[in-house]
Amino acid sequence: MKVLKFGGTSVGSAQRMKDVARLIMDGEKKVVVLSAMSGTTNTLVEISDYLYKKNPEGANDIINKLEQNYRKHLAELFATEEYRQKTQEVLESVFNSIRAYTKDLFTLFEEKVVLAQGEIISTNMMTNYLQEQGVNAVLIPALDYMRTDKNAEPDPVYIREKLALQLAKYPEAEIFITQGFICRNAYGEIDNLQRGGSDYTASLVGAAVGASEIQIWTDIDGMHDNDPRIVDHTSPVRQLHFEEAAELAYFGAKILHPTCIQPAKYANIPVRLLNTMDPAAPGTMISNETEHGKIKAVAAKDNITAIKIKSSRMLLAHGFLRKVFEIFESYQTSIDMVCTSEVGVSMSIDNTKHLSEIIADLKKYGTVTVDENMCIICVVGDLTWENVGFETRALQALKDVPVRMISYGGSNYNISFLIREEDKKRALQNLSDTLFNNK
Ligand code: ASP
Ligand code: MG
Repeated sequence: MKVLKFGGTSVGSAQRMKDVARLIMDGEKKVVVLSAMSGTTNTLVEISDYLYKKNPEGANDIINKLEQNYRKHLAELFATEEYRQKTQEVLESVFNSIRAYTKDLFTLFEEKVVLAQGEIISTNMMTNYLQEQGVNAVLIPALDYMRTDKNAEPDPVYIREKLALQLAKYPEAEIFITQGFICRNAYGEIDNLQRGGSDYTASLVGAAVGASEIQIWTDIDGMHDNDPRIVDHTSPVRQLHFEEAAELAYFGAKILHPTCIQPAKYANIPVRLLNTMDPAAPGTMISNETEHGKIKAVAAKDNITAIKIKSSRMLLAHGFLRKVFEIFESYQTSIDMVCTSEVGVSMSIDNTKHLSEIIADLKKYGTVTVDENMCIICVVGDLTWENVGFETRALQALKDVPVRMISYGGSNYNISFLIREEDKKRALQNLSDTLFNNK
């Protein structure tokens, strides 16, 4: 069985929902994971913001507008009064439940409930639409099987068992529809898998049902070997190893949420990225297979800050790095790149919320310098150290660009460069020309 996930834009209008329905109505049994219609989760965040600020009027305005929009979607989606009415009732109960919070105490718990409503609406719409079209579609509520444990990590055993029970109830069903993003936590409360978490749901569901393939459908044509918005002459990448995809997902290739990789990788289930606007295109296949000796893609991540600490105390000392890293840890700031020498260490971070405190603490151990407006360029491919020549080619492409840090050998799949943001476009283009276009 396949698991297919459609993101917010793919279900962003009644017409888009109909297109998705046509795509999935091929008689094959499948599980379909849906996001909320695009913009909805953000609107629900905005509503929550008004409720936190005890402004029921502000909240009500947006709630009413959102409900109006959905009424229009329903009018466009359904051909029969019966199914429109059935879905309208879901809509009313959802919006009334959100409205109830304008009169009550509003905390993190209530916010989680509000944020869950987007996926609840979109999945009810799709299920009812498919049923109206005569398809045997069943809605499997994510809140009945998707659960996180006390560390807020998904609980795969629970998910597998509960989902199997749910699916077994409907042996005749052709399409199972379920919500991405939402779950219950270890205490049974409504929670979620973080923003953008529907990809994670698809991967967890795929692993739980032992899917033959997990398909992530967006409105973009798979992964590209470089950012088509910045660089000329990019090409789609047809195959990636999970670790290559993980590097790219983290380094700004927005097409796939990084959390999606791990469950599929462990269960050895291929993930295919497909385009709703061009369903016949082959897309990008992500699996545990490496294409040997190939550089696959380049990605960039902006807004990076580099911090260097230089200290003669580091010379021949042990425990120095631990002390440095602990400072970052104590400010919940994760480090992306690290380069060390005998007398200094440079690190890059993308979260500068606690930068001044971090610098102040680091000064206890050495001389600190900071470079802002930097950018990480990440080259991904089969970069196993025994392969010769690849790192040289990447370096050659950057021969005219000032490079602040280089990180190679951390994984078999990546080499990263830290450069100035202003050099990014040039660096990406040079890398494309040298690595992919043989210029
Ligand atoms: N609707 C959620 C969000 O906007 C989850 C998702 O779309 O993946 O973050
Ligand atoms: Mg998404």
